[in-house]
Amino acid sequence: MRLVCLFTLLCLALPAQAEGFITRLLNKPVPGGVAVLDLGDGQDAPQVRYQGKPVLVIKEDGRRWIAIVGIPLTVAPGEQRIEADGRALNFRVGARHYREQRITLNNQEQVNPSPANLKRIERELAEQSAAYRQFSPRQPSNLLLDKPVDGPLSSPFGLRRFFNGEERNPHSGLDFAVGAGTPIKAPAAGRVILIGDYFFNGKTVFVDHGQGLISMFCHLSAVSVKPADELPRGAVLGKVGATGRATGPHLHWNLSLNDARVDPAIFIGQFRP
Ligand code: ZN
Repeated sequence: MRLVCLFTLLCLALPAQAEGFITRLLNKPVPGGVAVLDLGDGQDAPQVRYQGKPVLVIKEDGRRWIAIVGIPLTVAPGEQRIEADGRALNFRVGARHYREQRITLNNQEQVNPSPANLKRIERELAEQSAAYRQFSPRQPSNLLLDKPVDGPLSSPFGLRRFFNGEERNPHSGLDFAVGAGTPIKAPAAGRVILIGDYFFNGKTVFVDHGQGLISMFCHLSAVSVKPADELPRGAVLGKVGATGRATGPHLHWNLSLNDARVDPAIFIGQFRP
């Protein structure tokens, strides 16, 4: 009881604009990171856009509106700006070093696909890009996300990747080293917006957590949901596998905000600068 009272007093003693929990957790303004920007305490939620795309806005601690902006890996350090109700608001993006990773694949087709597979890849990319651009009005159930599997992190987000010596797209998500068949759980509530079986990603599930916060889970051995299913937080959506371009069973988890792939480690409190 005494502890609770002390905590209340401490909270009252803080200045009105002290950073809240979500801001402290998520504000990592680097390429592939997140910028959290204060939007004031107005009556209505400001409408925010970044690079022309709608941005997640919530009221933190019931007091102030904040914009939670995903920063693409391709953004160079320096000034960036959002538009909040048409008004420009600048923020600064710092630098982050991303390491290289060299992977050997026995299947050369997964490094330099045939023209027929390139057509398939292009089609699949368009389908997945459209899923990332969706923006539903619901507010995410939680922004400190649950780990989708219990297991150690393996390949981090943002690695610059070389397959058989050839540079390809950087690692757009976070890998967990867990065995085939491990159940994958929704890290927050959401709606299943896309299921596929893709050349690179294998069996894949997209979950829309609301306001542009979207998860993608790849290389599954089995999918246990269907499109338009509403998943409560923690619901099982499939099992870990090694389908698509994978050197062995693991879970690959992408997290997207305003159509920017960001480091999921931020959202589970495991960001390392
Ligand atoms: Zn991965």
